[in-house]
Amino acid sequence: MSYLVIARKFRPQTFAAIAGQEHITKALANAILRDRMPHALLLTGPRGVGKTTAARVVARALNCTGRELNTEPGESGAESARDAVEPCGECANCKEIAASASMSVWEVDGASNNSVDNVRELIDSLRSLPPPGSKYKIYIIDEVHMLSTAAFNALLKSLEEPPPNTVFIFATTEPHKIPETVISRCQRHDFRRLPATVIATRLAEIAEAEKVQLDEPVLNFIARKAQGGMRDAQSMLDRLLSFSGGRVDLELAQQIFGVVDHSFFLNLSDAIFTQDPERCFKLLDDAFVQSLDIRHFVADFIAYWRQALLLGTAIEGAATKGVKTDDERLQALLQLSEGEYVDLKSRLADVTAFDLQRLFDIAESTVRSALTSTYPRFVIEAGVSKMATLPSMRDLPSILSDISKQLSGSGFAQPVSGSVSSAKRPVVESMPAPQAGAPQEDKINKQQEAPRASAATDMPQRTDGGSSFSESSADFNPSWQDFVHHVKSRSEVMLAAFLRRVSANKFATGLLELQGSEFDLKSLEESTSLSSLRDCLHSYSGFSNWKIDFKPTEEHVEDSVASMEIKAEKQRKSKIVKDSKEDPLVKAALETFEGSKIETVSVLK
Ligand SMILES: [Zn+2]
Repeated sequence: MSYLVIARKFRPQTFAAIAGQEHITKALANAILRDRMPHALLLTGPRGVGKTTAARVVARALNCTGRELNTEPGESGAESARDAVEPCGECANCKEIAASASMSVWEVDGASNNSVDNVRELIDSLRSLPPPGSKYKIYIIDEVHMLSTAAFNALLKSLEEPPPNTVFIFATTEPHKIPETVISRCQRHDFRRLPATVIATRLAEIAEAEKVQLDEPVLNFIARKAQGGMRDAQSMLDRLLSFSGGRVDLELAQQIFGVVDHSFFLNLSDAIFTQDPERCFKLLDDAFVQSLDIRHFVADFIAYWRQALLLGTAIEGAATKGVKTDDERLQALLQLSEGEYVDLKSRLADVTAFDLQRLFDIAESTVRSALTSTYPRFVIEAGVSKMATLPSMRDLPSILSDISKQLSGSGFAQPVSGSVSSAKRPVVESMPAPQAGAPQEDKINKQQEAPRASAATDMPQRTDGGSSFSESSADFNPSWQDFVHHVKSRSEVMLAAFLRRVSANKFATGLLELQGSEFDLKSLEESTSLSSLRDCLHSYSGFSNWKIDFKPTEEHVEDSVASMEIKAEKQRKSKIVKDSKEDPLVKAALETFEGSKIETVSVLK
């Protein structure tokens, strides 16, 4: 069985049958229908995508004599134009051209007939008229870029003044090698690589016609391996069929064309994304054990990372614009089956385009090194290991734009700066300010009639910010903390300093019991301190007759103003720390920098 059996057997005989190049076949059919066929066509594109096939269909369509009997041309629209000019396949011209036996069609391989003499021979033949029964003479030159400069120059004259009813059709994979003077005299059509889905569909049709059972994974496997070339895909199918009795499964296909396929690279990228180099090595080992062809492997390897990069970038771009990804277009662009596309897309949800770019860069340099190395396997292992241990990073512009987006979404209108600082956090709650002014006499009298609870039990309320000593207060409710502030406000700095360190077990009108260290209490008992204290009590309460008791203790005085203030300050700071974690700016930064955490929060004031 020859490799080209299927390609020949299933070569398209009509415009409609040429898969994946509708933009060209419609234009060509339209030109034929309107009798505006240019004298020279230049068909460019990769190998095996239908260029010479299209050239032959054009030749048949131009010279077909059976068509008018079947169809009535003239309907509007390209689609119907194509239907109208399709060669009938039955007339003598159609049959002769299909069999490469027509006198009206010259088909020349530019690679083997590239001399000026070859071209002169061709030009000589231009003088003759088309053979009887044929309207046109058609010259198809394949691989036209292989012609020598002299040959091109000889050809140029004929292109400038083409004989009537002569059509040149040049096909090439490398149009850049053709002189501009030639290109400018041709109507150019660029053939595309075929989407894998188009190839897979065609292979399925062929398999059905050949009564061969092909699993869908096999079709996808071949379609992608062919990299957009229908002829390559058909050659591979030929080869597969020559190995099997009728049923072809993926395992056989992998044995023949290499074990690695899309699922292998999905698994490998899983291991890379989860930073699991050991699993990478295991997967690579499995692949290399099957005496892998390094060239095939690196080509598939870099192709996979290109797919990941393109898709990841598209996902991120769509997310930025707040639109959906154009899955149909992307799937065609990446030449993936629907299932493969969905698989790949789901894996990229958590990977940034920036990281994919970095992974691609490593993959690319790995591939380059592997191709020139004596030890390509080691190079690939080292490269994959590098990819699997790459710390995740974000590029600064995307970080800033993300943060600013999240901030605007949360309504937190703070300009974004490069640094994230807790110093910008709003101050949560300030200490209650000391109350000014003195209570009125009648309130104090009431207080005398019904003494209030001791100051110690009232103090926690004060730290909560409640005011127990405002002018609107109905009762005299002395606050030890207020009193200490009062002392300080009278410039009794030393006295205030000692009072801050002791606690008031009892603080009601006329009665003060202080508890504290022996040293502090002794200092307060000193005559100057004590008289100052009495003065302050009088000015604070308006009441002059105070009984002051001192209760020394060895223990730490928890209720002292100093202790309470330290406690309150601790609470304030821990609230700032807690609030800062809930802060939109900090949250945005945490989400943006994957794996980041708050190490410390410095409260600057
Ligand atoms: Zn015909």
